Amino acid sequence: MVGSNMSASNVEHVDLEKFIAGVKSRNPGQPEFVQAVQEVSQDIFEYIKDKNQYHEYQILRRIAEPDRVVSFRVCWEDDNGNIRVQRGWRVQNNNSIGPYKGGIRFHPSVTESVLKFLAFEQTFKNSLTGLPMGGGKGGANFNPKGKSDHEVMRFCQSFMTELFRHVGADVDVPAGDIGVGAREIGYMFGQYKRITNKFEGVLTGKGLEYGGSLIRTEATGYGAVYFLNNMLGHLGQGLEGKTAVISGSGNVATHAAEKVTQMGGKVLTLSDSEGFIYDPSGLDQSKIDWIKTHKTVRRGRISEFVKAFPGAEFHAGKRPWSVACDVALPCATQNELNGEEAKMLVGNGCIAVSEGANMPTDLDGVHVFKSAGILYAPGKAANAGGVAVSGLEMSQNSARISWKEADLQKLLVDIMGDIHARCVEYGGTAGSKRIDYVRGANVAGFKKVADAMLAYGVV
Ligand code: NDP
Repeated sequence: MVGSNMSASNVEHVDLEKFIAGVKSRNPGQPEFVQAVQEVSQDIFEYIKDKNQYHEYQILRRIAEPDRVVSFRVCWEDDNGNIRVQRGWRVQNNNSIGPYKGGIRFHPSVTESVLKFLAFEQTFKNSLTGLPMGGGKGGANFNPKGKSDHEVMRFCQSFMTELFRHVGADVDVPAGDIGVGAREIGYMFGQYKRITNKFEGVLTGKGLEYGGSLIRTEATGYGAVYFLNNMLGHLGQGLEGKTAVISGSGNVATHAAEKVTQMGGKVLTLSDSEGFIYDPSGLDQSKIDWIKTHKTVRRGRISEFVKAFPGAEFHAGKRPWSVACDVALPCATQNELNGEEAKMLVGNGCIAVSEGANMPTDLDGVHVFKSAGILYAPGKAANAGGVAVSGLEMSQNSARISWKEADLQKLLVDIMGDIHARCVEYGGTAGSKRIDYVRGANVAGFKKVADAMLAYGVV
């Protein structure tokens, strides 16, 4: 830790209540960001109560103030010749332990508040992976749904025409997120290369032909299931024979479903923003493959699943949390599981929740899971497998080599095991097998970033 010249005796400690009031007043109209900071702060204040330096150096206050937020205009022309104007952002939250790193989201619901919450969470998540990555996030209020390939290409190129100034292999390395998959990463990487004349690892999630890593696509969903299995394993159980309810039908959800089935579980549901499908016979690999193709190639709706597989039901406008299950994996978006729905899950016998999405459970829902004492893994721990393999993609790009799939698969399993172990270390209670995974992830993630910040002094 840093040697301090400051006089500890005169430094005033802000309490939790005042701290949260300050966050609220400095970030008006940013509920998602305030919610994320609130969720973390309680655990951190408890952890630092007898650790003066963290207070004196205002570490949490500084992590909760992004290094910078860049906001910019993105103009593009649609297929009918209309000029469209969108807003893009890059939030660079904290680079104390490595270059900023975090996905890009294209969705009409994207706001500065959503991206600030995601960049804040990302800072803790990236720290938990044990890899040298800071926290960032970006995106635009652009809806890729219903757009032609050429429209998406023109948008991505325009977005990168501004973003390129703020990113770089050693500066900030974005990846995909909601609405940004292999296609969008390809268009953005192509534009970056064209503008800068540099072929460097500026983005992860790239195609295998141009610097991408094996298993990056699968890593978030697979990792969330490994984490779930680690939690069950801690109690002497496994996934074999367990029923699973999963939300979403994008990258994270479909790969989570795939790994659950591979590990002997039965997946009953998937969903999209229009409703959920329930298949009592379980989603096997061929059904999951059908959904992957349907969503990413045909860009169709999940409701169409029941035409191809008549044994399944579609529940329009509903979320899947009323379906009885042993384990649940929310893998769609933030605040998609509220207190009432959490009660339904617990009441129907759910024993474990592993968040593939970022902050899918709202504060009431988290409270229900914690009070019920079920296994509950927050996204910053459970879905860290994606960014971990992104970190491995950065290493491969720097060394200009490609690692073998088997080695990467093992690294992913090991990293998720290490994250679980850190959560157990910081979230455990003496004499009990019960782990507070939220506290464990918050404190373990905070500590590494905080100690690096202390080493730098006040910057
Ligand atoms: P995708 O775009 O591939 O899929 C998103 C899925 O969520 C789609 O099924 C989409 O339905 C659904 N969805 C999106 N918004 C809503 C909404 N408001 N209500 C209901 N359903 C919604 O994204 P990803 O799978 O990549 O990301 C899912 C979550 O995982 C996000 O929270 C993301 O931040 C998180 N995450 C992703 C990582 C990654 O590697 N991709 C890494 C770590 C976290 P529809 O098709 O109707 O839009």
